[in-house]
Amino acid sequence: MNQEVRVRFAPSPTGALHIGGLRTALYNYLFAKKMGGKFLLRIEDTDQTRFVPGAEEYIQESLAWLGISPDESPWKPGAVGPYRQSERKESYLPYALDLIEKGHAYYAFDTAEELEAMRERLTAARVVQPQYNSITRTQMKNSLTLSKAEVQERLASGQPYVIRAKLPLKEEVRFQDLIRGWVVVHTSTLDDKVLMKSDGMPTYHLANIVDDHLMGITHVIRGEEWLPSAPLHVLLYRFFGWEESMPQFAHLPLLLKPDGNGKLSKRDGDKLGFPVFPLNWTDPFSGEKSSGFRETGYLPDALLNFLAFLGWNPGDEREIFSLSELVEAFSIDRIGKAGTKFDIAKAKWFNEHYLRQLSVEHQREYLLQDAQAAGVQLEKGKATAVVHLLRERVTFPGDFWKDSQLLWQAPSEFDEEVAGKKWNLEAKTVLETYAAALEADNSIPFDASSAKALLEATAEALEIKLGKVMQAVRLAVTGWGAGPDLMEVFAILGPQEVAKRIRFALHTLPLVG
Ligand code: GLU
Repeated sequence: MNQEVRVRFAPSPTGALHIGGLRTALYNYLFAKKMGGKFLLRIEDTDQTRFVPGAEEYIQESLAWLGISPDESPWKPGAVGPYRQSERKESYLPYALDLIEKGHAYYAFDTAEELEAMRERLTAARVVQPQYNSITRTQMKNSLTLSKAEVQERLASGQPYVIRAKLPLKEEVRFQDLIRGWVVVHTSTLDDKVLMKSDGMPTYHLANIVDDHLMGITHVIRGEEWLPSAPLHVLLYRFFGWEESMPQFAHLPLLLKPDGNGKLSKRDGDKLGFPVFPLNWTDPFSGEKSSGFRETGYLPDALLNFLAFLGWNPGDEREIFSLSELVEAFSIDRIGKAGTKFDIAKAKWFNEHYLRQLSVEHQREYLLQDAQAAGVQLEKGKATAVVHLLRERVTFPGDFWKDSQLLWQAPSEFDEEVAGKKWNLEAKTVLETYAAALEADNSIPFDASSAKALLEATAEALEIKLGKVMQAVRLAVTGWGAGPDLMEVFAILGPQEVAKRIRFALHTLPLVG
């Protein structure tokens, strides 16, 4: 097959793009690029009741942020546009009428009350799934049960109608899913889905099939929640006579909650404190705000790498992949069937990797920007020293500023637990002597190694083991029992500030025991 691969991401603009949708977009992108094909974006906005302003721009910005922008889209139209279904809305009715003509669809005139009455009847008869289907349609008001003349009359008088697919009574629908293998569904379990709604708009099913066909889509890669719709789609391809060019299907595994119990939802993110959206989002109707991966401090490379592994793996031990390496390594047959647990710790791990390998200059920019936003003008040399101090400890860019607060603010309180255990006479003696030495001579160059040498000499002269008092030293200067390299902290603070902090601690902290 030397046909060009064409895949599409087809979101409905009904709110912020969920992380699962973003993974679908990424897999489509990776597959298209791997195969030297095209990645399309089609906005499926035929359901006007669910349209949310800003959602389309959000999708565009999210993809651009990750560097997986489509080759063809509403903003970059190719030859098969428009790429918004609302702009193609006139084109769908002829296809539905064609199906009626071919005997694969029909007009249905049932009112909401009549449909409800049918459901009640079926429920009373203990039908588990009351449906408008090949059996029940025989009792309803549609062009299969009404006379031709009556149908014409109803249409001419402008009576509201829908067009439904006419599914065969007893037939096995089979197709081969690239991830799941053979899928076999019996039509007796399916209903006669609406294809055209009474407002003249197509439903998802009709518009999706017609557009995939007209846009030359070769592979449909989408979430597992669409698997139940696939048999109808396969039937529609057959009804239209487009079987030859039917795309291949690949239904991606579900994204599961961190504990593996059920589908990942926005509430899980809220509850456990992680984003499930790529960018910050404010719902234009409710005003509800949701945080995004970008604003939380995830780098695009890290999120891409993380997303790629939510359902796919390269088949070996490698985990770190740039976008182009992902393209190179990607294949649909390495996508698993089973749902994938969403493990935010892994996302952080990727972020640490990508953040820590940035240049010192780049990292310093993060620090300087945050400092400036807080109204602090940091001197460059000092900022560089801070970056060296923290670069192996950060997870997010904001950590450079956040975690360096111990440098800019002397502690006013001390970790009680550490104080309770470590603040003893030996520690106080070493600190007294050390502070006095720092105060006495500030002409000696003060860097991490001379600060350390002086501290060691002090302890040795007092015949006190430095190891035993080290945590108390850290406590006195930073307020905490753990943190970044203490001697580097001393070097950045300078001897006078270190001495001052020690004096304050000696003055403030009561002795234990
Ligand atoms: N509009 C559907 C969605 O919102 C598209 C599903 C598909 O890819 O067929 O996900």
